Amino acid sequence: MSETAVQSVAAEVDDWLARFDDALTREDAEAAAELFLDDSFWRDLIAFTWNIKTVENPDGVRDMLEHTLAHTRPRNWRTSEEPTAAEGVTEAWIEFETEAGRGNGHLRLKDGKAWTLLTALYELKGHEEPKGAERPKGVQHGANRDRLTWMEERRKEAEELGYTSQPYVLVVGGGQGGIALGARLRQLSVPTIIIERNERAGDSWRKRYKSLCLHDPVWYDHLPYLKFPANWPVFSPKDKIGDWLEMYTRVMELNYWGSTTAKSARYDDAKKEWTVVVDRDGEEITLTPKQLVLATGMSGKPNVPEIPGADVFQGDQHHSSQHPGPDAYKGKQAVVIGSNNSAHDICAALWEAGADVTMVQRSSTHIVRSDTLMDVGLSALYSEQAVEAGMTTEKADMTFASLPYRIMHEFQIPLYDEMRERDQDFYERLERAGFLLDFGEDESGLFMKYLRRGSGYYIDVGASELVANGDIKLKTGQVVRLTEHAVVLEDGTELPANLVVYATGYGSMNGWAADLISQEVADKVGKVWGLGSDTAKDPGPWEGEQRNMWKPTQQEALWFHGGNLHQSRHYSLYLALQLKARAEGTPTPVYGLQEVHHTS
Ligand SMILES: Cc1cc2nc3c(=O)[nH]c(=O)nc-3n(C[C@H](O)[C@H](O)[C@H](O)COP(=O)(O)OP(=O)(O)OC[C@H]3O[C@@H](n4cnc5c(N)ncnc54)[C@H](O)[C@@H]3O)c2cc1C
Repeated sequence: MSETAVQSVAAEVDDWLARFDDALTREDAEAAAELFLDDSFWRDLIAFTWNIKTVENPDGVRDMLEHTLAHTRPRNWRTSEEPTAAEGVTEAWIEFETEAGRGNGHLRLKDGKAWTLLTALYELKGHEEPKGAERPKGVQHGANRDRLTWMEERRKEAEELGYTSQPYVLVVGGGQGGIALGARLRQLSVPTIIIERNERAGDSWRKRYKSLCLHDPVWYDHLPYLKFPANWPVFSPKDKIGDWLEMYTRVMELNYWGSTTAKSARYDDAKKEWTVVVDRDGEEITLTPKQLVLATGMSGKPNVPEIPGADVFQGDQHHSSQHPGPDAYKGKQAVVIGSNNSAHDICAALWEAGADVTMVQRSSTHIVRSDTLMDVGLSALYSEQAVEAGMTTEKADMTFASLPYRIMHEFQIPLYDEMRERDQDFYERLERAGFLLDFGEDESGLFMKYLRRGSGYYIDVGASELVANGDIKLKTGQVVRLTEHAVVLEDGTELPANLVVYATGYGSMNGWAADLISQEVADKVGKVWGLGSDTAKDPGPWEGEQRNMWKPTQQEALWFHGGNLHQSRHYSLYLALQLKARAEGTPTPVYGLQEVHHTS
């Protein structure tokens, strides 16, 4: 852009922000709403709504502002870097303040009006994280007879918390989700205990099938505060990521109780407090936190189909999450039911170990080659080239967050068209082998499937070639029963088997609430995950945000946290701030608490 063009783009944004600021300061919701296009989106991450909420169009903006302006008192809107313009859209990174905190965000203007606006609170005034110039000193210089060393302080805290003092937050589940949230709460000085059924942090990865490596590349996977070093592999082997999580848990000074299982939880409406009974290595302990976070994993509650004859089958059978790896199955006949990520990984590892492997595909699967996905789908935000071009993890996360879910598929469809074209030969060979392919109901591909249903895809790291060339045998259809030594399909085909793996996915996270709290609370909270896109496994109506994730639920003081490493990193910030605000007694009036349309 020429200098004059740069100036005019900057002037356009400054002008919009000034008018917006003026309308908000006057608490004129109508005037602010008029600054938005008829077809527009405002996504708010707790700055205005104390919720994760997208409102649409001037009417949605007006309603949100009418309910939030008086207490939010937003001000000081400004750009944080030079705005840009391309193809009729002006984009700007912005900053602002509210009564409670400081925020940042992103603005897209078309024809001088807002098309998309993202506002996100990143810190609470008076409760800023001690970092940079404000970092802890670590030692008190001078002489002090009562001095406690860092180690003594840590030990004291570990001995007292949960026994003579209570955590404000209890996080159930110490996978990467619970750990990332725990790290943020630690920095915000919110007394927190993370409990984990497994012995050690990282075990949730270690215990998965032995061939597993992360499907997402390293640039996408960083945890808060501590990035992977530059020599970390692109795709982390599962045990390596397990070790990283264990190290992270220690250096982040988390109160992490391994070998601890939450047995039951009950909320006392009057006392505004949970009573949670946990088993810590054989000792029953009752904790009374004010806030309960279920970080028990969206890939944690196995869906195991009830198949007649499962009780008479003589071989091994287990869900993919329990699959130990292929070593015991050399020369054996294995049938893997399912055709998504786990099924492909497990089939390939069994084939490598010398098993005779059949994959049973029940419905179509979206496949995208890992290299192509990295190149076309991720490289602009999460890649070495992106890093070299100055992209930070935080900016990449905010860019991703700035696209409203309602229109995200429109941005994704062309990418997947390109991928399909690039790998046309690959897809043709798979189809010739009888594999049922899809690209999502609206051709929008992997991310949308992930956001909508969290399943239905495979990122190809090699198994597809084995399917295409017949090394992994493929059968299509429903399994109707097992016999002593075989899997029987609806068309009568009998597949002899010594091993049956159910790679049949996972259930909604509110199932954890049913197990731990009650079915009544699980139903009250409703389905977790999905957008209400009215596509398979994501029934409508449209919700606008992922159901129940990282935001207030219909059950007071109950929260859900999780998702992939990117989501867990980014959204743990907003969940941590919501919890911190409550811990400090900062008013947190929630706008647009989601309604529940589905119980599971
Ligand atoms: C095969 C496979 C491959 C994947 N690949 C990727 C990838 O490449 N990148 C990515 O980002 N994600 C990937 N995922 C998704 C992955 O599940 C999540 O990213 C990650 O495990 C989610 O972390 P989490 O902490 O939310 O859940 P989990 O890791 O499942 O952790 C939940 C924890 O809760 C504990 N728990 C449950 N109930 C209780 C209880 N009552 N008391 C105490 N503890 C309890 C469990 O033991 C478990 O450790 C993959 C998943 C699978 C299954």
